[in-house]
Amino acid sequence: MKNIAVIGSGTMGNGIAHVFAQHGYTVSLIDISDDALKKAVATIDKNMGRQVEKGMLTEEAKKLALSKLTTTTFLKEGVRDADLVVEAATENMDLKLKIFKEIDESTKPGTILASNTSSISITKIASVTKSPDQVIGMHFMNPVPIMKLVEVIRGYRTSDEVTATIMELSRKLEKMPVEVNDYPGFVANRILMPMINEAIYSLYEGVAGVGEIDTVMKLGMAHPMGPLQLADFIGLDVCVSILRVLHDGFGNPKYAPCPLLVNMVQAGHKGIKSGSGFYQYKSGSKELVIADRFKK
Ligand code: NAD
Repeated sequence: MKNIAVIGSGTMGNGIAHVFAQHGYTVSLIDISDDALKKAVATIDKNMGRQVEKGMLTEEAKKLALSKLTTTTFLKEGVRDADLVVEAATENMDLKLKIFKEIDESTKPGTILASNTSSISITKIASVTKSPDQVIGMHFMNPVPIMKLVEVIRGYRTSDEVTATIMELSRKLEKMPVEVNDYPGFVANRILMPMINEAIYSLYEGVAGVGEIDTVMKLGMAHPMGPLQLADFIGLDVCVSILRVLHDGFGNPKYAPCPLLVNMVQAGHKGIKSGSGFYQYKSGSKELVIADRFKK
């Protein structure tokens, strides 16, 4: 496996492209937005620069990695030579089905088609392709260059061979793969999202404020980040999408997204990526400032 195509160059796509390029793979990064691609390349450059400062990467290795990265807005062209496609576009079922139909028609036989989806059924995604045994979930965690886990999701028809290849490839990227079966939210988000939603309900019902909720979970449960800060980090729109998949998939009202979360997304407060969520984010500052509307 040499050539990797990554579809979507947002929060996750740029991190996935970064890790593959850093480990010697040729990467074609694809997005519908030229601006997103430019931003992604700048982010990868900046993040690799940080690795150089910390002594984790040499300047030469950084240059080599960046030379392996190309970008395009033409999907068919970007995936043509790929041995593996990792799709990391927006979390939306119809969009993913459309993308997988298109890449299935545009890739060479034997190409493994992976999705970085947080929650959408791999089996459903695979059903629109000619080779559902070649489709798998490769769920990286955010931020990709730092987080060790890859949740490897076997769809109903994913082959043993493809699963073994992706497990092995994840190890080559110095990640720890964990194999799970394809049910709504898989393991990571089936457990994480109800916790985040419950934290938002606690805020919504006035049990406590943003700072109090996050402090209880950080200091009381030894979580490195409180659930509200983590929700901002993941993206509040992504959280709503995942909760809807859990809600639809299990038909259980306990997964319904908290009305406050839905309102915030509708108002454009999506967390870090929009500059504001439960906290406000000043560019260049790591200081956590609670958003005005949640201040007492
Ligand atoms: P994002 O909104 O930051 O980026 C999505 C990118 O996809 C955007 O740049 C957008 O322009 C692009 N895109 C949309 N339609 C496209 C198309 N047809 N072709 C190519 N590109 C297209 O989203 P994200 O947070 O990076 O999430 C991407 C995927 O990764 C989702 O499936 C999400 O569930 C999953 N994920 C997210 C996180 C997280 O913490 N944000 C963690 C793990 C997995």
